[in-house]
Amino acid sequence: MHLANQADVRLLPRSAKPEPKISPCYEPLSYVAHPELMPMKYIRVNFHFMNSTDGRYNMPKEEVTRYAYEWINVVNSNLEHNMKMFLPAGNKTPALPIPYRYVISPDLTVKGDSGVYYHINDTLCYAVKTGRERNISDKRIIQRYAIRDDSVMNIFVQTHQLDSIKSPTYRPDASGISLGSSVKIFGRWFERPNVWGLRGITNHELGHSLGLSHTWLGFDGCDDTPEHPNCWNKTDHPPCDTLYSDNMMDYNAHMAALTPCQIGKILLNMARIGSIQRSVIEPRWCHLDTSSTITIMDSIRWEGSADLEGNVIINSGAILEVGCRISLPAGATIKINPGGKLVVLSTGKIHNACGETWGGIMLVKEKKNSGALYLMEGAQIENTPEPLAPTP
Ligand SMILES: [Zn+2]
Repeated sequence: MHLANQADVRLLPRSAKPEPKISPCYEPLSYVAHPELMPMKYIRVNFHFMNSTDGRYNMPKEEVTRYAYEWINVVNSNLEHNMKMFLPAGNKTPALPIPYRYVISPDLTVKGDSGVYYHINDTLCYAVKTGRERNISDKRIIQRYAIRDDSVMNIFVQTHQLDSIKSPTYRPDASGISLGSSVKIFGRWFERPNVWGLRGITNHELGHSLGLSHTWLGFDGCDDTPEHPNCWNKTDHPPCDTLYSDNMMDYNAHMAALTPCQIGKILLNMARIGSIQRSVIEPRWCHLDTSSTITIMDSIRWEGSADLEGNVIINSGAILEVGCRISLPAGATIKINPGGKLVVLSTGKIHNACGETWGGIMLVKEKKNSGALYLMEGAQIENTPEPLAPTP
């Protein structure tokens, strides 16, 4: 076995086939085609409970840390049980495992920090959803109180203004708004609502921050989320007797289904270098985890980008084609067994996304039979001990 160097590179000309209009690297479904490219992602969150000086706008400070941890547990429990889509009727849309979870993320540089914060502010403690005083998209609360919002999703917990709650036309229901890497969730927190009822709306608002749109209008960029009348629940009369949705990104009693395209969109966003969605996940791809080794047994083409956490082994007779960006952790290798092939296509790139060096490509030789490395014109291999380029 030896570390591949430039003399091992077999050059391939660019494919003669015309390039597709949209590169598969930008197609959400490319990101859910291979379970081995979907390791669990952990999204950092923290909580800010807002209260007034007189204490009428939230639960007492001593209760909020436990409440927040219970809250995020039920949010994650919905993610563990992706629901089958109700729409369209008779659909065969698979309910894929949802590959992300939320974790409350204390600031480790601050002693005793729990990641759950409490602020007294008589103006910023409340939300008004409608009318002259509407303030839900006001960003002052974020500017003033957000903590590490370049790497953590900040969840602000505000109560509806108490005067508004008294109005018969105001709906003080659990609701929220997503404002980039911060979300606000509104409720009647002084009543200490059961966290179970918060899991749908919280996943919905955080879902917006992960890059998803409402589905009922039919313009969310996914073919597996049909247009519908956005019924809250099933009723006896049309259209809500049949056209009710359970999708996370609609307003309904379930808000617990994500389609393959929606999951793919989130993974695509998380794989995009420099995106908000990428900045809030724990970069577990920066440490080699040998239990995450991927073994390629037959011919496959990876058409989505991914950040791998382990080694790759290409078995004898197997072919791995890399069509987009793949990151390997420092020290990880791609081992190609005799008769196995690695082909990096013209749009493909293999590198280390953490600014380090990965272990490179190991070719195993047995008698005259060796693992083979093919680079198509345009292919990029970076951050290896031996430089490798698609040149003769
Ligand atoms: Zn929404």
